[in-house]
Amino acid sequence: MNKAQFNIDKITRENVKGLKPYSSARDEYVSDGSKMIFLDANENPYENGVNRYPDPQQRSLKTVLADQKGVSSQNILLGNGSDEVLDLLFRAFCEPKIDNIITLPPTYGMYKVLANINDISEREVLLTNSFEPNVSEILEAIDDATKIIFLCSPNNPTGNSFSEESIIKILESFEGLVVIDEAYIDFSSKESWINKIDIYPNLIITQTLSKAYGMAGIRLGLCYASKEIINVLNKIKPPYNVNELTQKRALERVMDVAIVKGEVARILEEREKMIISLKDVSFVKEVYKTDANFILIKVDDATKRYDQLLKEGVVIRNRTTQPLCENTLRLTVGTSEENKALLTKMMTLDKN
Ligand SMILES: *Cc1c(COP(=O)(O)O)cnc(C)c1O
Repeated sequence: MNKAQFNIDKITRENVKGLKPYSSARDEYVSDGSKMIFLDANENPYENGVNRYPDPQQRSLKTVLADQKGVSSQNILLGNGSDEVLDLLFRAFCEPKIDNIITLPPTYGMYKVLANINDISEREVLLTNSFEPNVSEILEAIDDATKIIFLCSPNNPTGNSFSEESIIKILESFEGLVVIDEAYIDFSSKESWINKIDIYPNLIITQTLSKAYGMAGIRLGLCYASKEIINVLNKIKPPYNVNELTQKRALERVMDVAIVKGEVARILEEREKMIISLKDVSFVKEVYKTDANFILIKVDDATKRYDQLLKEGVVIRNRTTQPLCENTLRLTVGTSEENKALLTKMMTLDKN
C-alpha cells in the first residue's frame, strides 16, 4: 500500500466520516500559560491537584513522546490502556455485522474480545510452526470487507518478533489497516516500526506503558499513525479519556527514560539467566526464543506443572489451550529473587 493508493475515506465508517469531535470546555479555551479565572467547566474552584478537567489532548505528554520517537504530536493518540486504543480502531473503521478483521493465533486475546464486542467477525490465520505469519494464507483470507490485520510483534504468548520481510509483504499487499502491537518492543532487539508510518499510510503502531515502563496501574496506551488516521480516532475518543493523575505520572516516567532503560537492562539480564537455568529442568522440553519480558516453555504436562507451582505459591500462565501451544507455560521475568525462587521450586518438582 503506497500513499497514492491509500484513501482514508474508503476505510472509515460512514457515520464516523461525518462526525466532528465533541468540543469540551478544555478544548474551547486552550491555556497559553497566562493566569486566567476558569468559570467555564462547572468545576469545584478549590484547588486539590485534580479539581480541574485534564487536558483532552494530553499536550505535554505528547510533546515529550513526539520528541523521543521522532514523530509529530499529530501522529499520536493516547488512550486508557492499549485496550481503549484498539477498541477505538474497531469503532472508527469496522462496520458491525459487515466488516471483518484478521488475527494470527496464538496471540493476544483482546483482538478477538474486541471484535466480538463490536460485532465484527474475526478471521484466524494460524502462525506457522516457527510462529511466523503465514503470509500467503493471510492474503487469501482478505476480502473487500477486511478492515484490519493485527500483528503482535514481539508476539504474546510466543515471545518472538515477526520477520521484517513478512510484515512488509502484508503492509504492501493489503489495502486496509495493519496494526503492529508493540507492547513488548522495549525488550526487543528489533527496532520499532514507528519510523515507518511515513512510508506506509496504512500502518498503525500501538505501544503501552504497562510493560517496560512499569505503569500497568495507570492505564496508558499509545497509538502512532498518519495524521489522517489519528484525526479519525480523535473524532470518536471520549474527551477526557486519559485522566490527570495518569498524565502526570506518565510524564514523570517518560522524562526519566534512563530509569526505564536501566530496569529493562536488568530484566533482560535476568531473562538470559532464566533461559539457561530452564534448560536444566528435565520436564522442560523446549525454551522458545524470546524478544519480550516473558519466556514460553514447553513441558511434559503443562496443567500438572501449573498446578504444582500454584501450590508452591508461584503464579504463571498456562497456555496449553492455545493453538500451537500444547503443554506450554508462559513465565514473566521477575526480580532476581523471584526468578531464583521459581527455578528452585521447578528443580525440586523435578526430583519428585
Ligand atoms: C500487555 C499487552 C498489552 C497492554 O495492554 P494495556 O491495555 O496497555 O495494559 C497490549 N498488547 C499486548 C500484546 C499485551 O501483551
